[in-house]
Amino acid sequence: MNSKPRKRIRPFSTKRARRMRALAAKRRIAMCAGITRCHIKWEGVCVGTFDGWHHLRKLSHGGTDDATNLVPACNPCNDKIEDEPTEAERRGWVIREEATP
Ligand SMILES: [Zn+2]
Repeated sequence: MNSKPRKRIRPFSTKRARRMRALAAKRRIAMCAGITRCHIKWEGVCVGTFDGWHHLRKLSHGGTDDATNLVPACNPCNDKIEDEPTEAERRGWVIREEATP
């Protein structure tokens, strides 16, 4: 009889697992809503896939995970918005929140 214990699969760190679960849940919601494409469509960089949510108003600026604050985006578009925030704001992909005391 072979009672050798199976090799343990290294578990994800809790933080990473939580992030991945949250992303998976959001992806499921998007798939249910028929969202499979990037909505940013930044010419020259867009690959057209839905890789994750872009927040119009950053969470750190008082934005929420509400559907009205989220735009489906591909990774290159998300990066482009990070790289060119001024142009992204001009295009309406970024809502700047004035600092509130
Ligand atoms: Zn894109």
